Amino acid sequence: MAEQSVPGATHADPTWAIDLADVAKTYKGKIEALKGISMRIQQGEVFGLLGPNGAGKSTLVKILMTIIKPSRCQGTVLGHPVGSLQVLRRVGYLPEHHRFPNYLTGAQVLDFYAAMGEVPRRVRRKRIGELLELVGMGDWGKTRVSKYSKGMKQRVGIAQALMNDPDIILLDEPTDGVDPVGRRDIRNILAELKARGKTVFLNSHLLSELEMVCDRVAILVHGQVAQQGTIDDLTAGKERYEIQLECDSPLQDQTCAALLRKITLEPSQSNKRNADRFVLPSGPWVECEQSTLRIGTTDPALIQPIIDVLRQQRVMIRSIKPLRPSLEDLFLEAVDDAQPDESEAPSPHQKKSKTKRKNRKNKKNHRESQA
Ligand code: ADP
Ligand code: MG
Repeated sequence: MAEQSVPGATHADPTWAIDLADVAKTYKGKIEALKGISMRIQQGEVFGLLGPNGAGKSTLVKILMTIIKPSRCQGTVLGHPVGSLQVLRRVGYLPEHHRFPNYLTGAQVLDFYAAMGEVPRRVRRKRIGELLELVGMGDWGKTRVSKYSKGMKQRVGIAQALMNDPDIILLDEPTDGVDPVGRRDIRNILAELKARGKTVFLNSHLLSELEMVCDRVAILVHGQVAQQGTIDDLTAGKERYEIQLECDSPLQDQTCAALLRKITLEPSQSNKRNADRFVLPSGPWVECEQSTLRIGTTDPALIQPIIDVLRQQRVMIRSIKPLRPSLEDLFLEAVDDAQPDESEAPSPHQKKSKTKRKNRKNKKNHRESQA
């Protein structure tokens, strides 16, 4: 495949840590967990696989770990065909919902799992202390797992995944059930792993988590990759400015429209409730909803004339913020877009989602038409 087919890929001649094409898995002949996905992960990057529960994330990781057999699969892990056992020596794995034996101490957990992975005893002795330190568990190695919090178990789980000094680390929901401080610490550990040149493949349904740590993400919905790329790639063209106006009470629609008429050329069609869109002479759309003005640009020069008009009108400005859609916005858009089409009989819930999707699509199309 040509390199430009990988969204967000930057290296001229990348060596892929994971290179997958057409991976499919059907459980029991009927549950299509993966429907033929393709994905490439560069060496040394932190890659996030994002998706709602049941999207197929863990299935993919288990295929890479040879725990389950794919129905169909082409591709390689560190240059070896998926399914080859020898490459697992170079891969570390934190399964989701793992349960270490409660009677073992943290240090014994690391020793036990590394021994199963045939890491020599001498190497294990050395790494146990180092890795417990790395994950902030230096003082807890001699305490039994039964005394650990969920966050501490996750930290030991990550240390366990590093005992064989792997080149690729597969982490399935590493921050599941971990409090915000623990999540920040885990993010720092991931940054440290990246600094050491490791490739990290991370599954998560915690969107803000991925936004903060990942070089690239893929959004998996119903066993298919809906989007793939850097967060900048995925948000490109969707940024906006928001100007918050100081008002005693939210502006009425008519007041909004009057204000917009002063700063724009013409009203344009929009189906958004409580907001009419107008077009600035310089091109971008602008809309006013209650006390918020939104402008479809990230160019500060284009919002200066608006500020001038607002000040001439003696409207007080409370804040001006450049915004881009969060990963959550992109994710919801991908999930909405993946809803069944009109020909399929929808459930009441799907009907509701379809209306939302329609509105969002109209909004998106409208923005694009203004670009
Ligand atoms: P995720 O990790 O994204 O939550 P999973 O990969 O665990 O998703 O599951 C994807 C789909 O496959 C779900 O519909 C799930 O119920 C189904 N599934 C997962 N494991 C099995 C299994 N062992 N047998 C049958 N169905 C399974
Ligand atoms: Mg899962």
